Amino acid sequence: MPDEIPFDLSDVYSGLDDPAINKTINQLNSMVDTFIKKHQGKIKNYDADSVLDLLIEYEKYLEVVSNLRIFAGFSFYGDMTKKESQTLYNQFKEINAINAKKLSFYNLELGTLLLEKPDLLNNKILHNYYHYLEQIQELTIHRLTPAEEQLVIEKDLYGVNAWSDLQSKWSSTREFEIEVEGKKEIFHMGERNKYAINENREVRKQASYAVSKDVVKDGEIYSYALRNIFSDWVAISKRRKYSKPIDASLLYNEIDQTILDNMFSVIEKNVQMYKRVLKIRAKLLGLPKLAPYDTIAPIPGMKDKKYSWQEAQELILSAFSNFDQEFVSIAKDMFERKHIDATPRKGKTAGAFCSAWYAGKSSFILQSFNENLESITTLAHELGHAIHGYLMYDKQTLINCGYPSTAAETASFFGELLLIDLLLNKVETKEEKIDILLRLVSRIGHVIFGLTPMYWFESDIYGAIERGEYLDYSAITKYWVSARDKIYGEEIEWYEESNSSWCLVPHYFLANNRFYNYPYIFAQLFVYALYQQYLKEKETFLPKFKQILSAGGSIPLNQLGEIMGLDITKPEFWELGIKQFEYFLNELEKLI
Ligand SMILES: [Zn+2]
Repeated sequence: MPDEIPFDLSDVYSGLDDPAINKTINQLNSMVDTFIKKHQGKIKNYDADSVLDLLIEYEKYLEVVSNLRIFAGFSFYGDMTKKESQTLYNQFKEINAINAKKLSFYNLELGTLLLEKPDLLNNKILHNYYHYLEQIQELTIHRLTPAEEQLVIEKDLYGVNAWSDLQSKWSSTREFEIEVEGKKEIFHMGERNKYAINENREVRKQASYAVSKDVVKDGEIYSYALRNIFSDWVAISKRRKYSKPIDASLLYNEIDQTILDNMFSVIEKNVQMYKRVLKIRAKLLGLPKLAPYDTIAPIPGMKDKKYSWQEAQELILSAFSNFDQEFVSIAKDMFERKHIDATPRKGKTAGAFCSAWYAGKSSFILQSFNENLESITTLAHELGHAIHGYLMYDKQTLINCGYPSTAAETASFFGELLLIDLLLNKVETKEEKIDILLRLVSRIGHVIFGLTPMYWFESDIYGAIERGEYLDYSAITKYWVSARDKIYGEEIEWYEESNSSWCLVPHYFLANNRFYNYPYIFAQLFVYALYQQYLKEKETFLPKFKQILSAGGSIPLNQLGEIMGLDITKPEFWELGIKQFEYFLNELEKLI
């Protein structure tokens, strides 16, 4: 385990016992009380000046909330076993939930006002907030009456939320038994991955069969949960006057169905590329064909290269310096102010994230730095998010600092690409280059091609529900297999029970959180297309790229594309992103 990497949250509060924390809590409560007294029931009569005051006051409140969120969140997720951090985090969540409920009139009344007086949107005084107000107005069209909204919350509690809980409790409490070197081993669902990356193929196979056979046995339980969660969404979407189940998601992600259809048809047209990745993997594993339990298996003889924290910093700064000095100075600021919690420790949450800190015009990052390639790639990714934040705070007010998930990964994926570019130029051995490229095309290929059938399957299930089909285990499985095979074809030797894997995809069972995957595919291809543009334009690319990063969420997604000289409504746009993927794949194939 690497040494402790210093992390410092004291820019926000000096410690968990800082009296300023309580002051902030009191300040938040009084801000909410004042806000209610001043605005509740009155917004419907506001003119542009009063709307501006309202928005500025709301932004001030959000800014104070963000101070507490950063401090409580990073203290807690850095060590979830620490009592004091748990207490503060729970207190924060509680206060936030209560205040959000008290302030729910804000969106409702503002939306109603904007529907009644649409001219307000074009008022010069409110120019800065045009896109935000436009979104509130649009969302209001799909809002139900307050009594109906309340009823939806109540029925979800014993409806979709309960189905969602059932799937997660049921799957996470199953136990499986296998035999490893003559000894019995029992494992839980959460330990599946440990076996999927085992070097011994027989162990991987046994674990895969043990899980999938058990899932098939419970197939009807999973089908009940899935069918009800999906049917509920179809019904509620209609109530909210959406013409299709995907419409709410398209609205949130600021794209339309044609853009999405173009993207998926370009992916389908280029599916052969993913098959090439799977063929390379099979070859390196010495197999004629992959089985479902070989897809993330380690390649024999490939060693994880070690990088110290110091080396990671130097590599990233050097990668960014090939692109832009401001990128370098922001990354340096993050390192120097110790705003990155990178030490792996017991009780720390898995994964990595970056949070914007508006009041301090900075960001904070959490990750577990394990001294390997994956860790430095993650660091470059999260620093990309931090850079996005710094550039945005400089130009935008807080409300405009939120963006849709389709645009959220612009700087982070770009940061990764800059690092990969540097590493590929620096490698000393062929093996090292194969290692970097194989990891890259496997990971990105999984996003672009591997997630695509997830979208097709979800769309197909909604279609089946609307046609009135009864979806039992075998009907749902047929849809799953048909979507899956459009991408994987004959490249993987599936076995009967492995067709049940849809039962274990957690986000299909998330209540009211639909079409989870496609924004990732979109974001990935969007950035790869930008990178192609960068390689073509070099110097003229940079100012435009920084302009879209600093725009934050102040303008819609299609305008970000326009600034870059790219039309996201055209199929050619997606071909550009695929081309970047193909470049890495070609490079890899040359070495195999
Ligand atoms: Zn990210």
